[in-house]
Amino acid sequence: MHKAALSSVAALDAQNDDESPYGVQVFFDLLDQSLKSNLRIAHLEQEADFCRVRARVNGRLTEYRVDSGNVVAELMAEFKSKTARASHRSEASLVFDASRDNVLCHIECFMYSTTTGSALTIQINHPRNIADTLDQTTLSTDSIAKLRMHTSQQREGLTVISSPSVELLCNTYYALLAEYNNLDTKLVSFESSQRKKVARVSHTTAIDAASIPELDSDHIFIDWHSSSDPELLNALLNVYPTATVFVQAQSSAKATRQLSDIAISERQLATNLTTLIELDHAHMICPHCAEAHDPNGAEIRMMEDHHIVANSALNYAPGCDRCEHTGFGDHRTLMSLCEVTDLLRQTIESRCMSKMTKNLQTILKKDSLAEQRKRLVSAGQMELKSLK
Ligand SMILES: [Zn+2]
Repeated sequence: MHKAALSSVAALDAQNDDESPYGVQVFFDLLDQSLKSNLRIAHLEQEADFCRVRARVNGRLTEYRVDSGNVVAELMAEFKSKTARASHRSEASLVFDASRDNVLCHIECFMYSTTTGSALTIQINHPRNIADTLDQTTLSTDSIAKLRMHTSQQREGLTVISSPSVELLCNTYYALLAEYNNLDTKLVSFESSQRKKVARVSHTTAIDAASIPELDSDHIFIDWHSSSDPELLNALLNVYPTATVFVQAQSSAKATRQLSDIAISERQLATNLTTLIELDHAHMICPHCAEAHDPNGAEIRMMEDHHIVANSALNYAPGCDRCEHTGFGDHRTLMSLCEVTDLLRQTIESRCMSKMTKNLQTILKKDSLAEQRKRLVSAGQMELKSLK
């Protein structure tokens, strides 16, 4: 994958204009949705005569079609004309700011080809969809208390926070940064592109190992993109041994494997690692239209596979006015926090994924994400199919 090209940021004044190309109006719509709801990531897939728009709000996908064969091309042309051209050769990504309703939005676009045409991923960040504090996130009070405890211990070493969701990582990033900032810690924040400025935090967006500035710090926050230069991560972790690294991965075990594959030796990782934190979305069933139903054969087998008591009530929600006919209610963020033990260090060094996953389950017991999901399903608050 190409390295994200960090073009110099130029402001795109996103004023609605009927004269604008259709594709640009689609972009304004996305900005409006983002300011109204929590929309942060949209994928646009161009087909011959329509464009499929997939938008994520709190991890949940909505999909609609726009009848035009040029949405992606029009948008890229508009973005490129409004922003300074990236110096990077593989210029498939653009970073710029766009103002909408007097709110400055930080936009990152990635363009890529698909079998049927071109596609565009747009990330929209602005002060309203980035949490300032842990209390503004959808983490439970229990999870917030655990994070605060972890933060206040101020230990040296490495904390790895992983989630399959970029959106959850972004939200937790700034909220947790604020927690450390409250403690008067000297903080450095490394982001491939800066989504938000935090007072008293030194922000850096070095693009290679040679350009890392020397900054006085007790703790560095690293928002790691798999597309960035692995040598840069290695250098950051050597310059700043006390770090919290945010990695997109399906699980804690996979996150550690990713780090040791790309940037840090198993030995160094095992020595420095102190805490593994995992986050994921949980979509509750709408309580207003939930109905109990008897599990069918396939569901019974699935329940057996997951060791869920077969007489548990399964709920299903057909949709109602209260949930906009989606059947979904609240959004929650599930979190597990694992203090790294000596046994876990050994399994990291052995590079055995199955041992590591098993080990993590043994340490976390009922606190693992899998167990938390099972409890929600057993209580009829979440659909059985949301078990992974
Ligand atoms: Zn409902």
